[in-house]
Amino acid sequence: MKEFRCRDVGFDCSGVIRADSDEETLKQAAEHARQAHGVAELDDGTVQTIRSKIRQA
Ligand SMILES: [Zn+2]
Repeated sequence: MKEFRCRDVGFDCSGVIRADSDEETLKQAAEHARQAHGVAELDDGTVQTIRSKIRQA
């Protein structure tokens, strides 16, 4: 499993996303950002940051 913690990219948020692959984690992180933080679309820099924060769970 892959894991991404929302707070690792600077949100004051306890959200944790877990998925089978980096791509799926990224997809779910984007969805979480939209629903929880009102971020319509992640820009390239944010995507890169999220990728760098995804770790093995
Ligand atoms: Zn969050």
